[in-house]
Amino acid sequence: MTAPSVTPPVLRFAPSPTGLLHIGNARTALFNALLARREGGTFVLRLDDTDRERSREEYARAIRADLAWLGIPPDGEVRQSDRVALHDAAADRLRDMGLLYACYESPDELEYRRKRQLARGLPPIYDRAALALSAEDRATLEAEGRRPHWRFKLDHRTVGWTDLVRGPVTVDCASLSDPVLVRGDGSYLYTLPSVVDDADLGITHVIRGEDHVTNTAVQIQIFEALGAAAPAFGHHNLLTTASGEGLSKRLGHLSLTGLREAGLEPLAVAALATLVGTSEAVRPVASLDELAGLLDLSHVSRAPAKFDESELTALNARLVHELPYAAVGDRLAAMGVGGGAAFWEAVRGNLETVDQARDWWGVVAGPVTPAIEDPAFCAEAAAALPPEPWDGATWKAWTDAVKARTGAKGKALFMPLRKALTGRDHGPELAALLPLIGREAARRRLAGEPA
Ligand code: GLU
Repeated sequence: MTAPSVTPPVLRFAPSPTGLLHIGNARTALFNALLARREGGTFVLRLDDTDRERSREEYARAIRADLAWLGIPPDGEVRQSDRVALHDAAADRLRDMGLLYACYESPDELEYRRKRQLARGLPPIYDRAALALSAEDRATLEAEGRRPHWRFKLDHRTVGWTDLVRGPVTVDCASLSDPVLVRGDGSYLYTLPSVVDDADLGITHVIRGEDHVTNTAVQIQIFEALGAAAPAFGHHNLLTTASGEGLSKRLGHLSLTGLREAGLEPLAVAALATLVGTSEAVRPVASLDELAGLLDLSHVSRAPAKFDESELTALNARLVHELPYAAVGDRLAAMGVGGGAAFWEAVRGNLETVDQARDWWGVVAGPVTPAIEDPAFCAEAAAALPPEPWDGATWKAWTDAVKARTGAKGKALFMPLRKALTGRDHGPELAALLPLIGREAARRRLAGEPA
């Protein structure tokens, strides 16, 4: 954060509850939450639910659950639909100042005008025809049953700010249509409520996707018109799919809910969502505090960043390989996986997700169908099994004995034992698994019995 703040910063994440959050939304949420966390500030969830038709309670619940899962539950939550009185008051003030004006064009009329402008080589900007309407004109239109929508009268000047990601940014507002702030049915589009709520909640920094750069110019004008101090703004690059398409809430498989259900670790998702498309290497982190320490908005790239699910899977695996037993013990117990730290440490290096520990627990606890090609060899091996108690040195002592009895060595020694004991030809170190499997099960498996 560049602006030195005397008071702790207040940041917010402002999704519309109209779908499941995807990894690109997580990026925005994490940037805001991690900066708040690092600077001792506050992180607010603002549900932008002004679109009553598309907003759903189930999505609001999923958003909360996703943020909690990522480890960034908000310090507070507000909903725009609870704050309409404030939005109305601001709209009235803008109307009184002559900055919010009634328009009656239908979508078809606007589209027709746009096409005409384009055909003439003109930029398709709203021509402000409604500004010329007299009180009588308006009365006539309303008598015909037309309901006005309301546009903000932009000051045709260049608006600039020092973007926390992009550095100095300017937008020429003369090249923009006056934005519609209020729909014909009286409901608000996102633009005005966002300004009113940011001002009212004392938001100090707005970090959001670069698709909002133009909105920022407009919103800075609205902050100024309302006599409120605009927050600092930062616009980060957007994530795309591996083939370069924008992410959308409709692509369910990239949703956080989907990633959670796929068994990915929240810290892996958070690390990737935060570090991809920055000058920091994407790498596993041990905590969100560590991740917050790696986040530097001025190191976020300008180009879109590709989100590749295979990169996430690989990162997840690297993270799981390092996870201490204390971090997963409860989850393993809940999955019915035993064996304590010894089991976890034996298998974690073979896992892509923690859930896969269940498979290896099945191999330890059985029943396993042994794969035996040479029963005589396995019978020799069974005869060489040392008495219990077994520990980490048992495997070496046993295989040395088997080698002495049979003359087998290297792969010819180890592979038949692995296949008999686990039913598989690959897996974690048998030195660690053998004491967990135990003598009785080992003996039966070597005899070809499922055990
Ligand atoms: N509801 C807006 C969105 O999801 C919020 C943008 C903002 O952060 O101001 O795009």
